[in-house]
Amino acid sequence: MAAKIEAPRGTRDLLPEESPAWNAVEAVTRDLSRRYAFERIDTPLFERVELFARGLGESSDAVEKEMFRVSGASGSDEDRAEWALRPEPTAGIVRAYIEHGMHVRPGPLRLTLTGPMFRYDRPQAGRYRQFSQWDVEVIGDAGPMVDAELIELAHRFYREVGLDDVVAHVNSIGDEACRPQYRDALVAYFEAQEDRLTDDSRRRLRVNPLRVLDDKELAPDLADGAPRSVDHLCDPCREHFHAVLNMLDTLGCRYVLDHRLVRGLDYYTRTTYEFFVAGSEGQQQALGAGGRYDGLVELLGGRATPGIGFGIGLDRTVLALREQGVAQASRGPLVAVLGTGEDHAERLAVAGVLRDAGIAVRPDGSSRKLGKQLESAAKAGAAYAVILGDELATGSVVLKNLDGGEQSTVALDDLVRAVTGGGAGQPPPT
Ligand code: AMP
Repeated sequence: MAAKIEAPRGTRDLLPEESPAWNAVEAVTRDLSRRYAFERIDTPLFERVELFARGLGESSDAVEKEMFRVSGASGSDEDRAEWALRPEPTAGIVRAYIEHGMHVRPGPLRLTLTGPMFRYDRPQAGRYRQFSQWDVEVIGDAGPMVDAELIELAHRFYREVGLDDVVAHVNSIGDEACRPQYRDALVAYFEAQEDRLTDDSRRRLRVNPLRVLDDKELAPDLADGAPRSVDHLCDPCREHFHAVLNMLDTLGCRYVLDHRLVRGLDYYTRTTYEFFVAGSEGQQQALGAGGRYDGLVELLGGRATPGIGFGIGLDRTVLALREQGVAQASRGPLVAVLGTGEDHAERLAVAGVLRDAGIAVRPDGSSRKLGKQLESAAKAGAAYAVILGDELATGSVVLKNLDGGEQSTVALDDLVRAVTGGGAGQPPPT
């Protein structure tokens, strides 16, 4: 036998048994995107490395350690340019915003994208090399209301998929006016205790000191004693943050202040947030995250425009639903259409009548004995079997309830009603 080929490390196949949860979660993202007036945008799965290096920052983990590089085949210079699979969606969306002159559209722009992201990270539970995000971005609105609106939206998302106990961790990391002083205060504090830092943190201290606070191995007392960004905010940043928190209070959104939440990417300014199942912050990775990026459009070559967004990890959302035993509503009855002779065209025609009415149908394409076809239908989870036989000549079929076993002859004209509203013994499950 030839050697088996397996899926690449850090990737997964989503098998049919997982699809009800994914379908349900994706349906919520689509419905919320509509109710919150977001318009869909799609960008390429790969972009120039430079876009991420400039946008996310050379020293971010995503660029420094986790970039999933791809190179074109030999050929033109462009083919030889270096590409990377997107580690996150915001840089690509902002690139598209600038490239298509979208600033002339009536703003603020509300954009949403759902799709795979790629990070060449060490795979572990809940951390994959390919994962899916539902992302929303609002470009062109500097005010605090939209910060609160997005945090409220994320809360609503978790509630509507069935996770009640989600808490937002929030922080403000200031802007270019106040962050330099905060950075200096952090550097002074950590330099005085440099011998207690990990090698990685010592390096971070030099290139991006805020990220020392991101280090999971930072001693708790060192982290607790560190200067807090909220104590170093300039007046406009402080007012903005207070306004956001006041609105979250008014809306009843659950949040805690998290002074270590600096986020790993350079483009963030002011409000940052991450979402966790309450009580599991220590053990579990975030379910979703985001923040304000008022300098990013300019950094990528556009005119100065504020922005804010979040990315919700769909893989981790589905995992959390499974851990909490949240069941998905069934998708309505499945009907099998079976036959007793060379009546395959009629099977498709009857299936078509049911499908016209929105019913899921699995026609049996075999010429096996009826008993075998019934067995397969039951194994496939069908609630009903429609059996074509001699009655077809008078416009009727036999409808068999596969749960209870009852059967009756039903006129084709009444078939949809019989399947959706009862008529063959038990009413169908919904
Ligand atoms: P980040 O920008 O790293 O905070 O990612 C935003 C969200 O995407 C996280 O809160 C996760 O839900 C999800 N996410 C990030 N990295 C991964 C990964 N390697 N595997 C699965 N989900 C991820």
